Amino acid sequence: MDLNSLSIASARAAVQERKTSAVALAEAFYAKIASDDPKIGAYLTLSQERALAKAAEMDALVARGEKLPALGGIPVGIKDVLVTQGVKTTAGSKILSNYIPPYDCTAVARMEAAGAVVLGKLNCDEFAMGSSNENSAYKPVHNPRDLSRVPGGSSGGSAAAVAANTAIATLGTDTGGSIRQPASFCGVVGLKPTYGRVSRYGLIAFASSLDNIGPFGKTVQDVATVLGVIAGRDPMDSTSAEVPVPDYVAEIEKPVKGMKIGVAKEYLGEGLDAEVRSAVMAAIEKLAKLGCEIVEVSLPHTKYAIPTYYIVATAEASSNLARFDGVRYGHRAQGVRSLSEMYRRSREQGFGAEVKRRIMLGTYALSAGYYDAYYLKAQKVRTLLTRDFEEAFGKVDAIVAPTCPTPAFKLGDKVDDPLAMYLADIYTVTANLAGIPGVSIPCGETKEKLPIGLQIFGKHFAEATILRVANAYEKGA
Ligand code: GLN
Repeated sequence: MDLNSLSIASARAAVQERKTSAVALAEAFYAKIASDDPKIGAYLTLSQERALAKAAEMDALVARGEKLPALGGIPVGIKDVLVTQGVKTTAGSKILSNYIPPYDCTAVARMEAAGAVVLGKLNCDEFAMGSSNENSAYKPVHNPRDLSRVPGGSSGGSAAAVAANTAIATLGTDTGGSIRQPASFCGVVGLKPTYGRVSRYGLIAFASSLDNIGPFGKTVQDVATVLGVIAGRDPMDSTSAEVPVPDYVAEIEKPVKGMKIGVAKEYLGEGLDAEVRSAVMAAIEKLAKLGCEIVEVSLPHTKYAIPTYYIVATAEASSNLARFDGVRYGHRAQGVRSLSEMYRRSREQGFGAEVKRRIMLGTYALSAGYYDAYYLKAQKVRTLLTRDFEEAFGKVDAIVAPTCPTPAFKLGDKVDDPLAMYLADIYTVTANLAGIPGVSIPCGETKEKLPIGLQIFGKHFAEATILRVANAYEKGA
């Protein structure tokens, strides 16, 4: 049995039936990390002690004849913007290079309470700002499917670890596409839940009204399993919703026959790679063969999504990142003569170029005299984008689209052109602006064997519906 390539259900069954042990499973993953991760760069920090203690706890459960919880013994990795008590958490930034959090992120705590074995912390763009992982202050991540290419970002480490079999499932965050886009580039499944579905407590904030935590896995069922564990109200996050959590694993098996699937021309226009387009069109045909009714819908404000997103996201980031001042967290500049110089030097030394660019853009958009023209206007367009989806979802159960306009690009290709990098987010930022869920699943490959992602959007809190469509596609494909 190749322990590294198991799904959640099969790994859990293997531990339960004593075909292996949770400790052996964890050790197999650490061995794989030691041999393969140096060329991929997905991990920033390993947490062996914590992992092996949890694994031993799971083995003890089995020895007592008890049933394993949902993630019992499952080796997982966590994006390094989610805080972990006693385990260094850097957010991919030099400013937090020495930060050891005193508490756990709720999503991580819930995974561990469900028996997950946290192997370590995963590389990402600095403060989750980026689409290629090249903004990590530590090292880039290489796409396991082609090491000369980016894994996508900002949760590049989380996608790459699943694709490289160095974790069974991982957590990432998605503010403008950072779960779906890397899932698409690496050929794995990634879900951005509805805003409020998963607590953000312990997520180092980038843009609070857009940030979401969500799972990566090899299969739709794995992603459904993790979502069931992390979803639900948390008293520590007032924006987490009181909405009941369904049994996603059961829900995804329901038939899709008769479901109405929307296709929007705004997601199939100029700039879409020809091979991506034909893979997505083939996927739509497949859904029709599975008994779905394909309906044309219109999302007319999509063309304003990128500027709207980059105003809202940078404005919120400039405010959120004010807390990194050299006093409370992380790096403090030495040899300074005044308080303001200490602030300035600490931030200058601690933040990378993209983070500084966004703080400046966001501060400008929020400043007196410009607020109405930029931030307020962007919020109004955000409402129009949300209404587009509301109207479309009056007619259909889900909407399908490409996840990204292109497959994974080469390392170095866009790093000096921030605008080109921002445009890579064209199909993903809309879900964050509207707060709706979206999942990316593999839907074929290019001639060069690069994965292509199909994106499925749903109504607020309709994760079960989009995962059901995703599961039917995955099983039928
Ligand atoms: N690529 C987008 C950005 O750079 C999205 C990032 C994210 O979702 N965290 O802002």
